[in-house]
Amino acid sequence: MAGMRWDSMRVSPEGESTTPDDALFAQPPVVRTFDSPQFAGMTFYEVHAKSILNRVPAVSRVPFEWTINPYRGCSHACRYCFARNTHTYLDLGAGLDFDTKVVVKINAPDLLRRELARASWQGQPVAMGTNVDCYQRAEGRYRLMPGIIRALTKHANPFSILTKGSLILRDLELLVAAARVTDVSTAVSVGFVDQPLWRQVEPGTPNPLKRLEVCRTLNNAGVRCGVLMAPILPGLTDSPVQLAATVEAIAAAGATYVTPIVLHLRPGAREWFMSWLSATHPELMPRYRQMYAKSSYAPKTYQDDVCAQVRELAKAAGIGKPRTTDRTPAHNSGHRKLTPQAAVEPQQLSLLA
Ligand code: SF4
Repeated sequence: MAGMRWDSMRVSPEGESTTPDDALFAQPPVVRTFDSPQFAGMTFYEVHAKSILNRVPAVSRVPFEWTINPYRGCSHACRYCFARNTHTYLDLGAGLDFDTKVVVKINAPDLLRRELARASWQGQPVAMGTNVDCYQRAEGRYRLMPGIIRALTKHANPFSILTKGSLILRDLELLVAAARVTDVSTAVSVGFVDQPLWRQVEPGTPNPLKRLEVCRTLNNAGVRCGVLMAPILPGLTDSPVQLAATVEAIAAAGATYVTPIVLHLRPGAREWFMSWLSATHPELMPRYRQMYAKSSYAPKTYQDDVCAQVRELAKAAGIGKPRTTDRTPAHNSGHRKLTPQAAVEPQQLSLLA
């Protein structure tokens, strides 16, 4: 984990940090809880990270090189979240701990201002929301993203944000201002619009229909926004009727693209998701065990089939075609073009779902 380690931090039963003098943090972490119902049962670990621009290892298949992750853990609590296992690096659990114990790099904006000003920084595109959601509930309190966006804007540094959080609209004006000087792309992830399933599988997230409203608002404001249709859950959200309903809703929101991504289950996420599945849909267990027996990914034939259906539906719905109401920001035209997200292989993006 770049820039921060946790090895020597322990939390006492009373909830106080018992961190010894830790050379890996600029200051010992502060452990905090808040009374408001929004944060009931949650603990925040405020840390001063040593660096904030993280280089993605070259072996990684993701289509970006640099990321900013102001948080660790995510109150959106998606059962399938691939980042769950990273919590175990912090001596925390990949299940409930991931949902309720969130690390906050409270010096992220200051650090970023310094790192962007370094002569060695070349202005490469920076991806956010690629590990955990930077617009999760904690951001409402800590407000790290405005400072981060302002710093990137000041340096005309291209960036992208992937989120399930409607809180991104709080920063709409900042995003519009950033899009005037650099490439800004955003994406929301909406794998399905089934309401009961949403409450069970993504219990801490805004309603998927609300997320699609976010997509519409961003595009209407001139901040381009697409949709990762992720994850598509075998046997739960992959019937032709369900796929059509989701793609229709995505099209109606004016998404600039849709990228289908089938569920993948890495260690950490696998155990947490499967425990939910066995309790709620035991009849699906044999199928899932078989599909994910050899790999974190579903069989390629299944992925190809589902993704082809989504692409057909998206084409029929006109997703990606210019809209008469499109407001393409002329200010972007002089800047370096980023790879269109739609051209990125779903398998690569599946690392982000
Ligand atoms: S999938 Fe995204 S929104 Fe859901 S818990 Fe993980 S980081 Fe948060």
